[in-house]
Amino acid sequence: MSEIPVVSPLTHLSEDEKFFYDTIKQFADEKIKPFVMEMDKKAELRPEIPKQFFEMGLMGIHVPEEYGGAETNFFMSVLAIEALASVDGSAAVVVDVQNTLVNNCFINWGNEQIKKKYLPQLTSGKIGAYALSEAGSGSDAFALQCRAVDKGDHWELNGQKMWITNGNEAEIFIVFANINPELGYKGITAFVVEREFEGFSVGKKEDKLGIRASSTCELIFENCKVPKENVLGEAGQGYKAAIETLNEGRIGIGAQMVGIAQGAFDAGVQYTKERLQFGKPISSFQGVQFQLADAATKLEAARLLVYNAARMKDAGLPFLKQAAMSKLYSSKAAQEVCSLMIDLLGGYGFTKEYPVEKFYRDAKIGTIYEGTSNMQLQTIAKFLLKD
Ligand SMILES: Cc1cc2nc3c(=O)[nH]c(=O)nc-3n(C[C@H](O)[C@H](O)[C@H](O)COP(=O)(O)OP(=O)(O)OC[C@H]3O[C@@H](n4cnc5c(N)ncnc54)[C@H](O)[C@@H]3O)c2cc1C
Repeated sequence: MSEIPVVSPLTHLSEDEKFFYDTIKQFADEKIKPFVMEMDKKAELRPEIPKQFFEMGLMGIHVPEEYGGAETNFFMSVLAIEALASVDGSAAVVVDVQNTLVNNCFINWGNEQIKKKYLPQLTSGKIGAYALSEAGSGSDAFALQCRAVDKGDHWELNGQKMWITNGNEAEIFIVFANINPELGYKGITAFVVEREFEGFSVGKKEDKLGIRASSTCELIFENCKVPKENVLGEAGQGYKAAIETLNEGRIGIGAQMVGIAQGAFDAGVQYTKERLQFGKPISSFQGVQFQLADAATKLEAARLLVYNAARMKDAGLPFLKQAAMSKLYSSKAAQEVCSLMIDLLGGYGFTKEYPVEKFYRDAKIGTIYEGTSNMQLQTIAKFLLKD
């Protein structure tokens, strides 16, 4: 029986898209892969990696040219995230947060003045972070306790944020705080905070199971002075900015999960062709072939959901249900595919000598951040029961 071919991640791409994916994948194989395990162990991202992202234009993929971006489309951001995640989920999330959350929030919600000031910095050298979650508010994001008070000539922020990706490296933070708790979620406002603003500091960095090289930090605001003009969108409209940005961000996380699953799958297939048992490669056993075929089908289904959601967003079509489905399914599929690849590598799969255990650990975050799987189910169910 002939061998089962490896699923091509390029199946559904135009020539330009294929070239873009290939270029990033090659870069990741050459410049990131050699350091992946070291970065995972040290829980640190090598500083030259984001620098190279900026040089390659990967930190402003769909930002308009007038603000220093490459002005492609959202789908290209999704492809970049997928290609990077097939090598390292941590490196991928730097590009993911910058493009799908931070840049998107500025593009969709910023006035001309704020876009002109911050987008050129974000596309050319400054890493951004998106700070919504707090110790007491995760899924119930709008229960946030961070407060902003109008002090006449500036805003004053007090409170703490938790779990903030890129907290260690970021210089520009989008921070959600409530300007009037009596209004409930309608008091939530988005502020742009620079790292050196008085009263702002980055606190504890989390020691994590997966995506260890991606920093996840606490942020502290103690009478933090924010200029009046640093409100992103209208005061009181922050809840809309938060929810709409996360709806798009979810597709990026779906792409990260597809990339992680593909990386594990490729390593697993290769191993089954090389590993001999009972005098034959284990890939020659029908039991193993069926397991690979099943994993390849899950991976393909996840990729199609992610690509479809991204293309719907670019086409200006409603995509919320598809975005939730793509994140829900791809994070589940990534866990299953990575777990199977560990099984197929046997004892070696359980060691750090082979990459699959890291892909498995990195896949776990997909069911948690940017809305847990239960929150995605809630969104999907709302659409089903709407009428
Ligand atoms: C590595 C990492 C990076 C992150 N990066 C960022 C970031 O950059 N910016 C940011 O703002 N946040 C970030 N987060 C926070 C992340 O978005 C939250 O952890 C997530 O939304 C879940 O919130 P929680 O941890 O408070 O869990 P909880 O909301 O307490 O949920 C715990 C469990 O209860 C379930 N649950 C809660 N409510 C319901 C319900 N109504 N129905 C059914 N089930 C429910 C959840 O599904 C989950 O299984 C990050 C988190 C991690 C771990």
